[in-house]
Amino acid sequence: MNSIINDIEIIKSETTKINEVDFDNLAFGSVFSDHMLECNFKDGKWQAPKVIPYQAITLDPSAKIFHYGQSVFEGMKAYKDANEDVWLFRPLENFKRLNISSKRLAIPEVPENYFMDGLKTLLEVDRDWIPKNEGSSLYIRPFVFASGNGFHASPANAYKFIICTAPSGAYFSGKVKVLIEQTYSRSANGGVGYAKAGGNYAGQFYPTQLAVEKGYQQVIWTDDTTHEYIEEAGAMNIFVRINDTLITGPTSDRILDGITRKSIIELAKSEGIEVEVRKLSVHEVVEAAKNGSLKEMFGAGTAAVISPISGFGYKDEDFDIPELDETFAGFLKKRITDIQTNKVEDPFGWRYKL
Ligand SMILES: *Cc1c(COP(=O)(O)O)cnc(C)c1O
Repeated sequence: MNSIINDIEIIKSETTKINEVDFDNLAFGSVFSDHMLECNFKDGKWQAPKVIPYQAITLDPSAKIFHYGQSVFEGMKAYKDANEDVWLFRPLENFKRLNISSKRLAIPEVPENYFMDGLKTLLEVDRDWIPKNEGSSLYIRPFVFASGNGFHASPANAYKFIICTAPSGAYFSGKVKVLIEQTYSRSANGGVGYAKAGGNYAGQFYPTQLAVEKGYQQVIWTDDTTHEYIEEAGAMNIFVRINDTLITGPTSDRILDGITRKSIIELAKSEGIEVEVRKLSVHEVVEAAKNGSLKEMFGAGTAAVISPISGFGYKDEDFDIPELDETFAGFLKKRITDIQTNKVEDPFGWRYKL
């Protein structure tokens, strides 16, 4: 049955897959909800979005996404609390960053009401898909790509903005061992590293495969010129705790402005933890590991929230980070997820009720 919510047309799926899903054993991002939001850019403007049944997309083989990689994405989550109320976390930040990414890729920016009303309508329609089990959430993937045709290496004249959602369990389990990269780069000055551009991730796969072959799970990206400064951990921002100070690099062309990163900085400061946003050299981290002042390292991003690192490899040497009983990682992860899931007060105004 078709209907309209928030001025957005809804074409309901005639069947549901929800009964096939085991909500107690969810993987990350591998089953998809019944509906998706679709919005097309043509004739020079974004057309009204629609909620439609989740379905395959038909594209011409000459569609520019395939040849020139003109595409960007976002990642966010919706949570259901004990009263079945649904919460988003700083969704306007994702909206703004999607358009920052789009601008860099010469993709037309999506209007705010299409993004926000489209998202809210989609979540209303698929509300039953939002898990309420501890640790689970509905992972939300907004993305925009060039659907227009032609081999000419120039921006397309047609685009699709889609949001699909996937009920998901926790992203990582356990600690990861990382390799400090000395050859490859994720991003460069003047490049697209600050954007969530699809191709940025393709470029990470091969160096990550090499690290995995050597027995690590992830790569720590360093600056592209000297490889002497720590920048990111895989597709996450990175924090390093030396003694009782939490250190993370400043955002730049090369370091993505993560919403989890900036939330952790604010939260940690409000809890009286000393935070330094500054360049952090590999040398400093190696010295800290040697003299015992390196207490923690962790990645920060929407999917895993906080992902602790157990040790790192650097130039054929391995360094372990000893286990602590009480970690900043554990404390901050609990604080942030308690705010996200409406278990505690939100003094920052980050939570957004559906
Ligand atoms: C998405 C992403 C992050 C984390 O951003 P969040 O907004 O916290 O999810 C960090 N680094 C890279 C390269 C990313 O793509």
